[in-house]
Amino acid sequence: MTAPVASGRVLPTLNTDGSRNWIRPKVSDGKWWRRRRIVAWALIAFFVSLPWVRIAGRPAILLDVPRREFTLFGTTFLPTDTLLLMLLLFSCLLAVFLFSALFGRVWCGWGCPQTVYMEFVFRPIERLFEGGRSGSLILDRERRWLHPRRLGKYVAYLAISLVLAHTFLAYFVGTEALARWIRLSPAEHPAPFLVMATTTLLVFTDFTWFREQTCLIACPYGRWQSVLLDRQSMIVAYDFNRGEPRRKGGKDRPADSGDCVACNACVTTCPTGIDIRNGLQMECIHCTQCMDACDHIMRAVGKPEGLIRYASRDALEGKARHVLRPRTVLYPAAFSLAFGSFLFALNTRAKADVTLLRSGAEPFAIEADGRVSNQVRVKIANRSTEAHQYAITVAGVDGAQVIAPESPLTVKPGETRSTSVFVLLPRDAFIRGRRDVTVTISAGDAYRAEFPFNLMGPATPAPGTAP
Ligand code: SF4
Ligand code: SF4
Repeated sequence: MTAPVASGRVLPTLNTDGSRNWIRPKVSDGKWWRRRRIVAWALIAFFVSLPWVRIAGRPAILLDVPRREFTLFGTTFLPTDTLLLMLLLFSCLLAVFLFSALFGRVWCGWGCPQTVYMEFVFRPIERLFEGGRSGSLILDRERRWLHPRRLGKYVAYLAISLVLAHTFLAYFVGTEALARWIRLSPAEHPAPFLVMATTTLLVFTDFTWFREQTCLIACPYGRWQSVLLDRQSMIVAYDFNRGEPRRKGGKDRPADSGDCVACNACVTTCPTGIDIRNGLQMECIHCTQCMDACDHIMRAVGKPEGLIRYASRDALEGKARHVLRPRTVLYPAAFSLAFGSFLFALNTRAKADVTLLRSGAEPFAIEADGRVSNQVRVKIANRSTEAHQYAITVAGVDGAQVIAPESPLTVKPGETRSTSVFVLLPRDAFIRGRRDVTVTISAGDAYRAEFPFNLMGPATPAPGTAP
């Protein structure tokens, strides 16, 4: 029985029988490739060094998921800042919409970590070990998956995956914790070791096996482009009017031939395995490799460069460029509103986040002298950029005794600390088992806030006293 064969077009990474079509693109050195290489290495340096950067003593970036605390460029967002984070995320989303409307998928080709690491770290290593594109194709054809050259590549991939996984995890656990993890034996910290090993394996699998399929199958951004782009958006485009009818050959080609010499250089260089001459496609990550490849051919055949170039679909049809259009007006307006609200809320939020909680298994305790004791847990998160000493006072009842062993409580910037305050009141201070007081937290001129708090006590008078 023969295997079923697809009748229509399948993914470029799949053959019609469903087997994997390994894409081994040929590098096309050119001005766009060199520019992208500079950007890529600058981004890699930024990604690797950012977890080590400190702003006012705090990490520039720390995404502490278990504690739900996110530090972004020195500003810490606590669980109570959900609205702020939503505004920030919404602003980023609108910025992506606007950027895509103006410049197409420039992020995919120039800035996305998948592209940057695949094209400028992993593929160059592959070419080095396997002897370039032709060497890889021979190994593929002969199905020599464990050839020494290929095994050498896997070892190098694993080493880089380890570095990337550790760097990635530093964003979530901080560099101090990461350094501790590295020094300890896996037996001493099995859970962190498992997290690190799983992350390394995921990175390794992505760049060894899944590769460009991340862009083609897993990433939703490519699928959004039909709604994010319009006919005025800049894309990497083949000039159909200039290129067609395409014909092979040199000077002997018929006079009505287009500039495309059907050399296929733009296809063999494409990291997602598509033919740009078929028009705008979801698989195109706008990496500009086909632009460099075609420019090289155009120079060789004495034609002007730019048969494949950055252009809008309207521009290719000779229509005028319109920077102002509904989406380039609406997106900036919505972005300004969302980001302006975020900045306003960020600058007007309290300089400390205070939480008061009743503590202990019992809501109150009767002391030996008959007084009623309440334990209040005070949690203070210092949002400012300086350490403060927070004084804790309780007002609202004459004759109350307040025991606050840790007042004033020193809290460093970005730190959250908790302490207990004990309030002792005469039993008759309670009315139907309740007594309202005011807890004041103050740190000189830097912060002051009052919080109403309800103390608990016995609902009935002491035995032997009048009701
Ligand atoms: S590289 Fe240029 S000339 Fe060659 S096939 Fe592609 S578009 Fe045509
Ligand atoms: S068609 Fe060109 S720009 Fe698009 S992914 Fe392929 S090489 Fe890159």
